Amino acid sequence: MSFDSLGLRADLLRAIATQRYGRPTPIQAQAIPVVLAGHDLLAGAQTGTGKTAAFVLPILQLLAEKGHPQRQPRALILTPTRELAAQIGERVHAYGIHLSLRSTVIFGGVGMQPQINQLHRGIDILVATPGRLLDHAGQRTLDLSRIEILVLDEADRMLDMGFIHDVKRIINLLPKRRQNLLFSATYSDDMRRFSESLLNRPKLIEVARRNTAAETVIQTAYPVDKARKRDLLAHLFHREDWTQVLVFTRTKAGANRLAEHLGREGISATAIHGNKSQSARTRALDEFKRGAVRALVATDIAARGLDIAHLPQVVNFELPNVAEDYVHRIGRTGRAGAGGQALSLVSHDEMALLKGIQRLLGRQITLNPVAGFEPSLTPPPCDPEPGSTGRRNNTAHRQNRVVRPQTGSRTGQGAKHGLHGRAHPASQTKS
Ligand code: AMP
Repeated sequence: MSFDSLGLRADLLRAIATQRYGRPTPIQAQAIPVVLAGHDLLAGAQTGTGKTAAFVLPILQLLAEKGHPQRQPRALILTPTRELAAQIGERVHAYGIHLSLRSTVIFGGVGMQPQINQLHRGIDILVATPGRLLDHAGQRTLDLSRIEILVLDEADRMLDMGFIHDVKRIINLLPKRRQNLLFSATYSDDMRRFSESLLNRPKLIEVARRNTAAETVIQTAYPVDKARKRDLLAHLFHREDWTQVLVFTRTKAGANRLAEHLGREGISATAIHGNKSQSARTRALDEFKRGAVRALVATDIAARGLDIAHLPQVVNFELPNVAEDYVHRIGRTGRAGAGGQALSLVSHDEMALLKGIQRLLGRQITLNPVAGFEPSLTPPPCDPEPGSTGRRNNTAHRQNRVVRPQTGSRTGQGAKHGLHGRAHPASQTKS
């Protein structure tokens, strides 16, 4: 399968050629023809699958075919975070470089006036976070009455982050007749209800089974005492000579403290989280991408949708409270087919979280203590099978035993909320 066979116009193919993408990813191969045909779409795809191009390319084509008579926004792409909005905006620009469509990005934390000026100049494609978009709509600096295509990207995150009411208010401002595309890495009951209310006979596409970490990511975990995690992390930086690692903490204060500690250990690090201004976050990300700092310490929300090409290493300094966040975190590495490593530092009090993650993934994660950093407490045993009730005395599954991650298909309970209500092969399309 090549990009040429997807029905895309020559000026888009030229832009893709500049990106040096060899061939379409599965989500692109499946979604592009569906969107071009004008269908609604419900896509189960996490970051790293190439999902952005899967909706941006056909949208550009559909809008370019119709020309741009009014320069009123005709496509609206809603995303949960500023970073993701900025990244999608960059993609729209890059893929649409040979077209005369105009796009802009609207998010909070920066001045309204430059955005108003942009909107006045006339826009075809709008990429936005919900809150700031509603501010503009409320002040009548934005007219959404011509929107023909709506994209909800990382819709599960938008629901998790409490944007559901904002999103519904935005939808009420749109014309009833429009094409809707919904992308989500996970599919909860809330999401099912929401998507049923939004989508009109959608085509369903699912790539990389729901809640299954990218197969290319090697996942390991080191048991360690909580108090020694910082030292273990610094030790690993030195031992592995890591140059670019995204490190996750649970709290903003924790992210700051860890970045400072790494700095004291001679490891250049910067923190990125919601208390930092937009410009500070952008600067931190730039420094990290350029290789000026070795560690970017982030909270889950700040890291949503960060697009860092070929990020080799992700470290969970603390496990997330919500198992689905683990999937999102490790989705930062092993992107679009590239290999990657995800490492978790697991203290005794986090064993229940690890079990929840394993149950969600339907597989076990290798747990190996690092010499000199063995935990002082004996950890409880892992669940013998995903979805089982877990037998505490089952010594065959004690966590210190090396358990190779399974790479084949699985039937764990994590599959039960898949788009089609069952486990899926790696990619498929259904109508
Ligand atoms: P996304 O899942 O949209 O965040 O994309 C993840 C990364 O994959 C981005 O850095 C894209 O530039 C890259 N990418 C998108 N499509 C392809 C492709 N067909 N081949 C290789 N890389 C791609």
